[in-house]
Amino acid sequence: MTKTYRIAVIAGDGIGPEITEATILALGEVGVPFEFTKVAAGLGAWEKYGNQLPQETLDVIKSSSACLKGPTQTPPGPGSFKSATVTLRQILDLYANVRPFRNHPGVPSVHKGVDMVVVRENTEGLYKGIEYGLGDSALGIRVITKKGSERIARFAFDLARREKRHRVTAVHKANVLKETCGLFRNVVAEVAKGYPGIQFDEMHIDAAAMRVAMKPQDLDVIVTTNLFGDVLSDEVAGVVGGLGIAPSANVGDRYAFFEAIHGSAPKHAGKWDANPTAIMLSAAMMLRYLGEIGAAARFESAIDRVLDEGKTVTRDLGGSAGTMDFARAVAGAMKAAKSP
Ligand code: NAD
Repeated sequence: MTKTYRIAVIAGDGIGPEITEATILALGEVGVPFEFTKVAAGLGAWEKYGNQLPQETLDVIKSSSACLKGPTQTPPGPGSFKSATVTLRQILDLYANVRPFRNHPGVPSVHKGVDMVVVRENTEGLYKGIEYGLGDSALGIRVITKKGSERIARFAFDLARREKRHRVTAVHKANVLKETCGLFRNVVAEVAKGYPGIQFDEMHIDAAAMRVAMKPQDLDVIVTTNLFGDVLSDEVAGVVGGLGIAPSANVGDRYAFFEAIHGSAPKHAGKWDANPTAIMLSAAMMLRYLGEIGAAARFESAIDRVLDEGKTVTRDLGGSAGTMDFARAVAGAMKAAKSP
Protein backbone atom coordinates (compact mmCIF):
# COMPACT_ATOMS: atom_id res chain seq x y z
CA MET A 1 0.00 0.00 0.00
CA THR A 2 1.33 3.48 -0.86
CA LYS A 3 2.30 5.57 2.12
CA THR A 4 0.38 8.78 2.84
CA TYR A 5 2.73 11.58 3.90
CA ARG A 6 1.54 13.99 6.52
CA ILE A 7 2.75 17.46 5.53
CA ALA A 8 2.54 20.54 7.76
CA VAL A 9 1.76 23.60 5.67
CA ILE A 10 2.58 27.13 6.78
CA ALA A 11 0.73 29.33 4.30
CA GLY A 12 2.51 32.40 5.69
CA ASP A 13 1.90 36.06 4.88
CA GLY A 14 1.59 38.28 1.79
CA ILE A 15 1.73 36.08 -1.31
CA GLY A 16 2.32 33.00 0.90
CA PRO A 17 -1.28 31.68 0.96
CA GLU A 18 -1.56 32.12 -2.83
CA ILE A 19 1.65 30.31 -3.79
CA THR A 20 1.08 27.49 -1.27
CA GLU A 21 -2.46 26.94 -2.59
CA ALA A 22 -1.02 26.79 -6.12
CA THR A 23 1.59 24.26 -5.01
CA ILE A 24 -0.94 22.03 -3.25
CA LEU A 25 -3.06 22.03 -6.40
CA ALA A 26 -0.09 20.96 -8.54
CA LEU A 27 1.05 18.36 -5.99
CA GLY A 28 -2.33 16.68 -6.54
CA GLU A 29 -0.94 15.34 -9.84
CA VAL A 30 2.46 14.01 -8.71
CA GLY A 31 1.03 10.61 -7.81
CA VAL A 32 1.99 10.64 -4.13
CA PRO A 33 -0.70 10.68 -1.43
CA PHE A 34 -0.47 13.59 1.01
CA GLU A 35 -2.45 14.70 4.01
CA PHE A 36 -1.90 18.44 4.48
CA THR A 37 -2.31 20.11 7.88
CA LYS A 38 -2.39 23.91 7.83
CA VAL A 39 -0.59 25.64 10.71
CA ALA A 40 0.01 29.29 11.56
CA ALA A 41 3.28 31.26 11.65
CA GLY A 42 4.48 34.77 10.91
CA LEU A 43 2.78 38.14 11.07
CA GLY A 44 -0.73 36.68 10.73
CA ALA A 45 -0.08 34.33 13.66
CA TRP A 46 1.33 37.21 15.69
CA GLU A 47 -1.77 39.32 15.05
CA LYS A 48 -4.14 36.43 15.83
CA TYR A 49 -2.40 34.64 18.71
CA GLY A 50 0.26 37.10 19.90
CA ASN A 51 2.84 34.48 18.89
CA GLN A 52 4.65 34.30 15.54
CA LEU A 53 5.33 30.60 16.04
CA PRO A 54 2.62 28.98 18.17
CA GLN A 55 3.46 25.76 20.04
CA GLU A 56 0.77 23.91 18.07
CA THR A 57 2.63 24.74 14.84
CA LEU A 58 5.82 23.24 16.23
CA ASP A 59 3.97 20.16 17.48
CA VAL A 60 2.35 19.52 14.09
CA ILE A 61 5.66 19.99 12.24
CA LYS A 62 7.41 17.59 14.61
CA SER A 63 4.78 14.91 14.05
CA SER A 64 4.74 15.36 10.25
CA SER A 65 6.96 13.87 7.55
CA ALA A 66 7.99 17.37 6.42
CA CYS A 67 6.79 20.97 6.30
CA LEU A 68 6.02 23.09 3.25
CA LYS A 69 6.40 26.74 4.17
CA GLY A 70 5.18 29.92 2.51
CA PRO A 71 7.12 33.12 3.23
CA THR A 72 6.38 34.87 6.50
CA GLN A 73 6.58 38.59 7.14
CA THR A 74 8.67 40.20 9.89
CA PRO A 75 8.38 43.93 10.61
CA PRO A 76 11.84 45.56 10.67
CA GLY A 77 13.62 47.18 13.57
CA PRO A 78 13.63 46.96 17.36
CA GLY A 79 10.37 46.36 19.18
CA SER A 80 9.01 43.82 16.72
CA PHE A 81 9.00 40.03 17.06
CA LYS A 82 11.81 37.72 15.93
CA SER A 83 11.45 36.22 12.44
CA ALA A 84 9.33 33.04 12.53
CA THR A 85 11.57 31.50 9.87
CA VAL A 86 14.80 32.08 11.80
CA THR A 87 13.15 30.90 15.04
CA LEU A 88 11.89 27.72 13.36
CA ARG A 89 15.38 26.96 12.01
CA GLN A 90 16.92 27.41 15.45
CA ILE A 91 14.29 25.53 17.49
CA LEU A 92 14.25 22.54 15.11
CA ASP A 93 18.04 22.72 14.67
CA LEU A 94 17.75 22.85 10.87
CA TYR A 95 21.40 23.65 10.42
CA ALA A 96 21.66 23.27 6.64
CA ASN A 97 20.00 25.67 4.24
CA VAL A 98 20.37 24.16 0.78
CA ARG A 99 19.86 26.51 -2.15
CA PRO A 100 20.38 24.96 -5.59
CA PHE A 101 20.56 27.16 -8.68
CA ARG A 102 20.34 26.25 -12.32
CA ASN A 103 19.01 27.84 -15.47
CA HIS A 104 15.51 26.89 -16.49
CA PRO A 105 14.47 26.56 -20.13
CA GLY A 106 12.63 29.62 -21.38
CA VAL A 107 13.58 31.78 -18.39
CA PRO A 108 15.63 34.84 -19.37
CA SER A 109 18.80 35.14 -17.30
CA VAL A 110 21.99 37.18 -17.02
CA HIS A 111 24.08 33.99 -17.25
CA LYS A 112 23.56 30.58 -18.86
CA GLY A 113 25.20 27.30 -17.88
CA VAL A 114 24.86 27.84 -14.13
CA ASP A 115 24.55 24.75 -11.93
CA MET A 116 25.58 25.36 -8.35
CA VAL A 117 24.43 24.94 -4.76
CA VAL A 118 24.82 27.32 -1.85
CA VAL A 119 24.99 25.42 1.45
CA ARG A 120 24.38 28.02 4.12
CA GLU A 121 24.89 27.45 7.85
CA ASN A 122 21.41 28.12 9.19
CA THR A 123 21.52 28.39 12.98
CA GLU A 124 24.54 30.50 13.96
CA GLY A 125 26.37 33.67 12.93
CA LEU A 126 24.79 37.08 13.24
CA TYR A 127 21.34 35.52 12.79
CA LYS A 128 21.63 34.08 16.28
CA GLY A 129 20.01 37.42 17.08
CA ILE A 130 22.16 38.37 20.07
CA GLU A 131 21.91 42.14 19.82
CA TYR A 132 21.88 44.99 22.30
CA GLY A 133 20.94 48.63 22.07
CA LEU A 134 23.37 50.65 24.23
CA GLY A 135 22.47 54.32 24.30
CA ASP A 136 23.33 55.70 20.88
CA SER A 137 25.03 52.47 19.82
CA ALA A 138 23.96 48.93 18.98
CA LEU A 139 25.96 45.72 19.35
CA GLY A 140 25.59 42.35 17.68
CA ILE A 141 27.38 39.11 18.58
CA ARG A 142 28.42 36.74 15.81
CA VAL A 143 28.43 33.16 17.04
CA ILE A 144 30.54 30.62 15.12
CA THR A 145 31.24 27.26 16.75
CA LYS A 146 33.48 24.34 15.86
CA LYS A 147 30.50 21.98 16.06
CA GLY A 148 28.33 24.18 13.82
CA SER A 149 31.09 24.67 11.25
CA GLU A 150 32.00 21.00 11.24
CA ARG A 151 28.48 19.70 10.64
CA ILE A 152 27.72 22.19 7.84
CA ALA A 153 31.07 21.38 6.19
CA ARG A 154 30.29 17.65 6.33
CA PHE A 155 26.82 18.32 4.97
CA ALA A 156 28.30 20.25 2.01
CA PHE A 157 30.90 17.58 1.20
CA ASP A 158 28.35 14.77 1.55
CA LEU A 159 26.00 16.65 -0.78
CA ALA A 160 28.84 17.14 -3.28
CA ARG A 161 29.63 13.41 -3.16
CA ARG A 162 25.95 12.37 -3.46
CA GLU A 163 25.28 14.71 -6.38
CA LYS A 164 28.58 13.80 -8.09
CA ARG A 165 29.84 17.38 -7.88
CA HIS A 166 33.53 18.18 -8.05
CA ARG A 167 34.37 21.10 -5.82
CA VAL A 168 33.40 22.69 -2.51
CA THR A 169 34.37 26.32 -1.98
CA ALA A 170 34.40 27.77 1.55
CA VAL A 171 33.29 31.40 1.41
CA HIS A 172 34.36 33.61 4.32
CA LYS A 173 36.17 36.81 5.27
CA ALA A 174 38.89 35.36 7.49
CA ASN A 175 41.38 38.08 6.56
CA VAL A 176 39.26 40.60 8.50
CA LEU A 177 36.97 38.55 10.77
CA LYS A 178 39.91 36.62 12.13
CA GLU A 179 38.27 34.77 15.01
CA THR A 180 34.80 33.98 13.64
CA CYS A 181 35.54 33.45 9.94
CA GLY A 182 39.00 32.16 10.89
CA LEU A 183 37.44 29.32 12.90
CA PHE A 184 34.90 28.54 10.17
CA ARG A 185 37.61 28.45 7.47
CA ASN A 186 39.96 26.24 9.47
CA VAL A 187 37.25 23.75 10.40
CA VAL A 188 36.00 23.43 6.79
CA ALA A 189 39.58 22.96 5.58
CA GLU A 190 40.06 20.19 8.16
CA VAL A 191 36.81 18.43 7.15
CA ALA A 192 37.88 18.67 3.48
CA LYS A 193 40.81 16.32 4.21
CA GLY A 194 38.30 13.51 4.76
CA TYR A 195 36.95 13.90 1.19
CA PRO A 196 39.98 13.37 -1.07
CA GLY A 197 37.79 12.86 -4.17
CA ILE A 198 36.36 16.37 -3.95
CA GLN A 199 38.41 19.48 -4.62
CA PHE A 200 38.40 22.11 -1.92
CA ASP A 201 39.16 25.79 -2.27
CA GLU A 202 38.20 29.04 -0.57
CA MET A 203 37.15 32.57 -1.49
CA HIS A 204 36.54 35.79 0.36
CA ILE A 205 32.90 36.79 0.34
CA ASP A 206 33.53 39.97 -1.66
CA ALA A 207 35.43 38.05 -4.34
CA ALA A 208 32.70 35.39 -4.38
CA ALA A 209 30.04 38.06 -4.88
CA MET A 210 31.93 39.35 -7.91
CA ARG A 211 32.43 35.82 -9.27
CA VAL A 212 28.68 35.25 -9.07
CA ALA A 213 28.06 38.43 -11.04
CA MET A 214 30.78 37.76 -13.65
CA LYS A 215 31.25 34.00 -14.00
CA PRO A 216 28.92 31.88 -11.86
CA GLN A 217 29.61 28.90 -14.14
CA ASP A 218 32.94 28.53 -12.26
CA LEU A 219 31.16 27.73 -9.00
CA ASP A 220 29.98 24.30 -7.87
CA VAL A 221 29.16 23.90 -4.14
CA ILE A 222 29.61 26.90 -1.83
CA VAL A 223 29.63 26.40 1.92
CA THR A 224 29.34 29.55 3.97
CA THR A 225 28.09 31.21 7.14
CA ASN A 226 24.53 32.35 7.74
CA LEU A 227 24.41 36.02 6.70
CA PHE A 228 26.89 35.61 3.81
CA GLY A 229 24.85 32.66 2.50
CA ASP A 230 21.60 34.62 2.72
CA VAL A 231 22.93 37.57 0.71
CA LEU A 232 24.98 35.57 -1.77
CA SER A 233 22.10 33.26 -2.65
CA ASP A 234 19.75 36.12 -3.56
CA GLU A 235 22.55 37.35 -5.84
CA VAL A 236 22.82 33.94 -7.53
CA ALA A 237 19.02 33.89 -7.90
CA GLY A 238 19.32 37.26 -9.64
CA VAL A 239 21.71 35.95 -12.29
CA VAL A 240 19.75 32.80 -13.13
CA GLY A 241 16.34 34.40 -13.59
CA GLY A 242 15.15 35.99 -10.35
CA LEU A 243 13.72 35.18 -6.95
CA GLY A 244 10.57 33.73 -8.47
CA ILE A 245 12.40 30.53 -9.45
CA ALA A 246 14.79 29.95 -6.50
CA PRO A 247 13.92 27.08 -4.10
CA SER A 248 15.43 25.93 -0.81
CA ALA A 249 15.46 23.22 1.83
CA ASN A 250 16.05 23.77 5.54
CA VAL A 251 17.32 20.47 6.85
CA GLY A 252 18.43 19.05 10.19
CA ASP A 253 18.99 15.54 11.49
CA ARG A 254 15.30 15.04 12.42
CA TYR A 255 13.14 17.66 10.74
CA ALA A 256 12.99 19.70 7.55
CA PHE A 257 10.99 22.45 5.92
CA PHE A 258 10.94 23.57 2.32
CA GLU A 259 10.35 27.12 1.13
CA ALA A 260 11.09 29.58 -1.66
CA ILE A 261 14.07 31.78 -0.85
CA HIS A 262 12.03 34.90 -1.53
CA GLY A 263 9.93 36.75 1.02
CA SER A 264 6.24 37.58 1.31
CA ALA A 265 6.31 40.25 -1.45
CA PRO A 266 3.56 42.26 0.32
CA LYS A 267 2.94 44.50 -2.70
CA HIS A 268 1.72 41.48 -4.67
CA ALA A 269 -0.49 40.11 -1.90
CA GLY A 270 -4.09 39.54 -2.97
CA LYS A 271 -3.33 40.02 -6.67
CA TRP A 272 -2.79 36.31 -7.40
CA ASP A 273 -0.02 37.23 -9.83
CA ALA A 274 3.08 36.03 -7.91
CA ASN A 275 5.23 33.33 -9.41
CA PRO A 276 4.79 30.02 -7.53
CA THR A 277 7.74 28.31 -9.30
CA ALA A 278 10.18 28.72 -6.39
CA ILE A 279 7.92 27.09 -3.80
CA MET A 280 6.93 24.38 -6.29
CA LEU A 281 10.61 23.57 -6.87
CA SER A 282 11.00 23.56 -3.07
CA ALA A 283 8.15 21.04 -2.92
CA ALA A 284 10.10 18.94 -5.45
CA MET A 285 13.07 19.07 -3.04
CA MET A 286 10.66 17.90 -0.34
CA LEU A 287 9.66 14.93 -2.52
CA ARG A 288 13.36 13.99 -2.87
CA TYR A 289 13.82 14.30 0.91
CA LEU A 290 10.88 11.91 1.34
CA GLY A 291 12.52 9.47 -1.06
CA GLU A 292 9.96 10.09 -3.83
CA ILE A 293 12.64 10.59 -6.46
CA GLY A 294 10.49 9.75 -9.49
CA ALA A 295 7.70 12.07 -8.38
CA ALA A 296 10.22 14.88 -7.81
CA ALA A 297 11.61 14.44 -11.33
CA ARG A 298 8.09 14.39 -12.85
CA PHE A 299 7.15 17.56 -10.99
CA GLU A 300 10.36 19.39 -12.00
CA SER A 301 10.09 18.43 -15.63
CA ALA A 302 6.42 19.55 -15.74
CA ILE A 303 7.47 22.92 -14.27
CA ASP A 304 10.28 23.23 -16.83
CA ARG A 305 7.90 22.32 -19.67
CA VAL A 306 5.48 25.10 -18.70
CA LEU A 307 8.33 27.61 -18.25
CA ASP A 308 9.83 26.63 -21.59
CA GLU A 309 6.52 26.87 -23.42
CA GLY A 310 6.21 30.40 -22.04
CA LYS A 311 2.44 30.69 -22.63
CA THR A 312 1.36 30.47 -18.98
CA VAL A 313 4.11 32.26 -17.07
CA THR A 314 3.72 35.04 -14.54
CA ARG A 315 4.54 38.74 -14.87
CA ASP A 316 8.06 38.53 -13.39
CA LEU A 317 8.98 36.21 -16.28
CA GLY A 318 7.42 38.44 -18.92
CA GLY A 319 4.02 36.71 -19.07
CA SER A 320 0.55 37.65 -17.88
CA ALA A 321 -0.66 34.42 -16.26
CA GLY A 322 -1.90 34.34 -12.68
CA THR A 323 -0.50 32.19 -9.88
CA MET A 324 -3.24 29.55 -10.24
CA ASP A 325 -3.03 29.56 -14.07
CA PHE A 326 0.61 28.50 -13.74
CA ALA A 327 -0.31 25.81 -11.19
CA ARG A 328 -3.07 24.43 -13.44
CA ALA A 329 -0.65 24.40 -16.39
CA VAL A 330 1.91 22.41 -14.35
CA ALA A 331 -0.80 19.99 -13.17
CA GLY A 332 -1.95 19.66 -16.80
CA ALA A 333 1.60 18.93 -17.97
CA MET A 334 1.89 16.12 -15.41
CA LYS A 335 -1.50 14.71 -16.43
CA ALA A 336 -0.50 14.84 -20.11
CA ALA A 337 2.78 13.05 -19.34
CA LYS A 338 0.81 10.25 -17.64
CA SER A 339 -1.66 9.61 -20.46
CA PRO A 340 -0.56 7.06 -23.08
P1 NAD B 1 10.80 39.69 -1.11
O1 NAD B 1 11.55 38.47 -1.50
O2 NAD B 1 9.45 39.51 -0.52
O3 NAD B 1 10.67 40.65 -2.36
C1 NAD B 1 11.78 41.12 -3.13
C2 NAD B 1 11.30 41.44 -4.56
O4 NAD B 1 11.04 40.26 -5.29
C3 NAD B 1 10.00 42.26 -4.59
O5 NAD B 1 10.05 43.14 -5.67
C4 NAD B 1 8.95 41.18 -4.83
O6 NAD B 1 7.79 41.69 -5.40
C5 NAD B 1 9.69 40.20 -5.74
N1 NAD B 1 9.22 38.82 -5.57
C6 NAD B 1 9.52 38.00 -4.54
N2 NAD B 1 8.91 36.83 -4.71
C7 NAD B 1 8.24 36.88 -5.88
C8 NAD B 1 7.41 35.95 -6.58
N3 NAD B 1 7.19 34.71 -6.12
N4 NAD B 1 6.85 36.34 -7.75
C9 NAD B 1 7.09 37.56 -8.22
N5 NAD B 1 7.86 38.50 -7.61
C10 NAD B 1 8.43 38.15 -6.44
O7 NAD B 1 11.78 40.48 -0.09
P2 NAD B 1 11.52 41.74 0.85
O8 NAD B 1 10.65 42.75 0.17
O9 NAD B 1 12.88 42.10 1.31
O10 NAD B 1 10.77 41.15 2.11
C11 NAD B 1 9.34 41.21 2.29
C12 NAD B 1 8.99 40.45 3.56
O11 NAD B 1 9.33 39.07 3.42
C13 NAD B 1 9.72 40.93 4.84
O12 NAD B 1 8.79 41.04 5.89
C14 NAD B 1 10.73 39.84 5.13
O13 NAD B 1 10.96 39.71 6.51
C15 NAD B 1 10.02 38.62 4.58
N6 NAD B 1 10.94 37.53 4.17
C16 NAD B 1 10.58 36.28 4.52
C17 NAD B 1 11.36 35.22 4.12
C18 NAD B 1 10.95 33.83 4.55
O14 NAD B 1 9.85 33.63 5.04
N7 NAD B 1 11.80 32.83 4.36
C19 NAD B 1 12.50 35.43 3.33
C20 NAD B 1 12.82 36.73 2.95
C21 NAD B 1 12.04 37.77 3.38
